[in-house]
Amino acid sequence: MAAPWQDVVRDAAAVREAAAVAVDAALLAGLLMRTGEQPNASDVVNYAPFTLLPSAVPQALFEQAYAVQQDFNLLVDAVSQNKEFLEQTLASTIKVDDFTARLFRIYTQVLEEGLAQTVFLGINRSDYMFDCGQDGTAALRQIEINTIAASFGGLTSRTTDVHRLVLKALGKTEEATRLVPNNPAKGLALGIAKAWELYGSQRAVVMFLVEEVQRNIFDQRCVENELWNRNIRVVRKRFRDVFEQGSLDASRRLFVDGQEVAVVYYREGYVPQVYDQQSWEARLLLERSRAVKCPDIATQLAGTKKVQQELSRPGTLERLLPSHPGAIARIRATFAGLYSLDEGEEGDRIAATAIADPDRFVLKPQREGGGNNLYGEELREVLEKIKDSPERTSYILMDKIKPQPALNYLLRAHSPLQVSECISELGIFGVYVRQGQELVLNQAAGHLLRTKATEHADGGVAAGVAVLDTPYLL
Ligand code: ADP
Ligand code: MG
Repeated sequence: MAAPWQDVVRDAAAVREAAAVAVDAALLAGLLMRTGEQPNASDVVNYAPFTLLPSAVPQALFEQAYAVQQDFNLLVDAVSQNKEFLEQTLASTIKVDDFTARLFRIYTQVLEEGLAQTVFLGINRSDYMFDCGQDGTAALRQIEINTIAASFGGLTSRTTDVHRLVLKALGKTEEATRLVPNNPAKGLALGIAKAWELYGSQRAVVMFLVEEVQRNIFDQRCVENELWNRNIRVVRKRFRDVFEQGSLDASRRLFVDGQEVAVVYYREGYVPQVYDQQSWEARLLLERSRAVKCPDIATQLAGTKKVQQELSRPGTLERLLPSHPGAIARIRATFAGLYSLDEGEEGDRIAATAIADPDRFVLKPQREGGGNNLYGEELREVLEKIKDSPERTSYILMDKIKPQPALNYLLRAHSPLQVSECISELGIFGVYVRQGQELVLNQAAGHLLRTKATEHADGGVAAGVAVLDTPYLL
């Protein structure tokens, strides 16, 4: 499955020249990030890390990933509305994982009060790797689905143009024409705009809930600017702004700094470290409000690793999507082996198997954002230590996906130009809007290809491991 430029990879002069073209094209295209030294200033910026060359992706698997996205939207939405399922599934996890427990407490508190929110907006990204079978054929395997703050839909809208130019500079003009157009920023904005419209107040704003440290602001601005182009006002606020300036009126309309908020788009709030007491209070205020939360707390919980593992249990999809046999078959075809580590015989058995053969598995805690999973010897050590304690249930086990590596160059500011053995992860963005019980929008909104050197088992772009890429369909 090699791309048709493996010849170029070993040509040092051509690579140097192409890299110079690539970096300037990236800067011109707005493929930008703030710097680690000045993460909150736009005075000094640099290019976001990206590959010199597009990476080969099997066309059939690319199409399969797109074709199943509406099904995953449907599934996430169904899970978010199924209290019984969320309760049962997360019961063991919330006993040992404090973060999930606190989210769950807000979830139940909001349900007990009764939801004020009537319009629901989901933006997710389903991530896959291409598992290489023993006969050399590749299969699409889902890594996870991100239901909160799925990023890089903005910047990746700019990478295709950059790679097209690089291919032309390398004399691959015909191949350059074959890169598929991609604009998730537009699709995400379409969903936000639809939710804003259904909320039904011209004066109300869309609020991006953003981090204290905003290195990836340009990614968000791509979506934000699409909304301004539609004459929708956008404000950027942090949890502490909401704590200080936020309030609800009698019908639980949300006001922040005097402005009514129609949609809250979370680009923050998925790691425990950001939640001090004030942030938890702000989160509760937002969840209690009538504003459309993207995601609401139920949908955030639907994206936990524990839920992902339970979805793979025989019969679960049938229970959640009873009248969608086609969707169930397409979804299930993307699942890798997933295993519960709950206390009991099933968990004992798989824990013992993983300790005996750690390279077959990945051990995952209930965390997001990259760099949390355990592999190989570390997996064995941790599992040995916790195998007889309740702490075990805060993790799940997953079959390790083994893609075929390819050679590429990872372009990073201030880093030497060197060839790396790489693997890629394909993400498909999904957007849906539900009003009451009616799904009024359900779409795939574009894709994201991220590539990393095989020496790193884990980690995304924000974690400094993976870089942005463009698929070249074979
Ligand atoms: P996070 O929520 O931290 O992004 P992921 O489940 O996406 O958690 O895992 C992070 C990274 O670890 C992925 O981007 C991928 O590189 C690697 N990874 C995760 N699961 C697997 C797996 N089953 N096989 C191989 N690599 C995996
Ligand atoms: Mg991930």
